Amino acid sequence: MILILKPNTNPASEEYQLLLRYLDALNGVAHEVRHIQGAEQRLTEIYLIGDTKPLLIQFMRGLPCVQRVVRVQEAYRFLGRHGDEALQHGFTYNGVTFDQDCLHVFAGLCAVDTRSNVEAMMRALQANNQQCTRMGAYKPRTNPYSFQGHGAACLPYVFELAGKYGIKVIAMEVTHESHIEEINEALELTGQPTGIMLQIGTRNTQNFELLKAAGRQETHPVLLKRGFGITLNESLNAAEYLASEGNRNVVFALRGMKTNLGDPHRNFVDFSHVPVIHRLTRMPVCVDPSHAVGSRHRTPDGVLDLLHATAQGVIAGANIVLVDFHPRPSQALVDGPQALLMSELPTFLEDVHIARSAYEKRVSLVKSYRQGQAVAA
Ligand code: PEP
Ligand code: MN
Repeated sequence: MILILKPNTNPASEEYQLLLRYLDALNGVAHEVRHIQGAEQRLTEIYLIGDTKPLLIQFMRGLPCVQRVVRVQEAYRFLGRHGDEALQHGFTYNGVTFDQDCLHVFAGLCAVDTRSNVEAMMRALQANNQQCTRMGAYKPRTNPYSFQGHGAACLPYVFELAGKYGIKVIAMEVTHESHIEEINEALELTGQPTGIMLQIGTRNTQNFELLKAAGRQETHPVLLKRGFGITLNESLNAAEYLASEGNRNVVFALRGMKTNLGDPHRNFVDFSHVPVIHRLTRMPVCVDPSHAVGSRHRTPDGVLDLLHATAQGVIAGANIVLVDFHPRPSQALVDGPQALLMSELPTFLEDVHIARSAYEKRVSLVKSYRQGQAVAA
């Protein structure tokens, strides 16, 4: 059961203390308090864990400070929506808010190769008012002889350049627990110039020990990619591993499914699942059109398949777009053929904006219809 308290409830208030004393006295039910700092208000949720069946929703709703009560379903205990449309969740990390209403573009290098390419990328992002990026330092490669990423060696200059160009959040894949420590050390060394969203890739979606390690720390949010060959339910349970260890700041990313049914795309684009994840969980949803489409093919209308796929995700309400760019794709050590060019960045961002406006118009259209129906009833 989750008790959602009135916004901005003061933990020092008499009523709040009264509520806690009541919960302390409940037999066989433990409670865990979570504060969620949103852009405008602070939300407090209290999770009741144990035998909550005898607790009546009507009664719990009458307790001091309580605004709403949600009975938790078995699936996705911490990240699930539990059939409650109004249940909010989001987090602010390094000044950037992530929730199911936001939209951020994380354009950047699939893999860090040279300092000058990192700098060219970040300079272009700043010129286009972007504060998030993607930068791969640890690359999980199919072939052991392929470039594996520069690892810890590149972190200091990547972080310093991020600070120089006003980048607040970098999505960076980790493939082993020790990478989190290396990232923390480099952040410390460089004076915390930026923030890192730890990315767990599709090959590691069910690497439970890695999930537990990323879940045990609450410094950095986690962007979890959907597993490319497992069910959506299995991938959502993987996200719940992170949350059950303590870290609820989780973003769920769609990147296409591995099947020849998706040919000629690299993966079968699954962005129609954006609304499904919004409905089943409270996580912000990311789409990765680069790894889904995997090429720079274009349609006769002149638009790249990759931009069409991006628009499909955004028009369905996606909250993050993770996308590969490169200043010189022919020099890229990983995924050059799918990278967008620096000169394409403004057009890409404008196209995302067009799709987002269309999404917002769709939402308000349906809202008016539903309000009309409610008045008529
Ligand atoms: C990536 O984003 O660089 C990546 C390797 O993606 P995925 O795990 O989706 O293949
Ligand atoms: Mn890649």
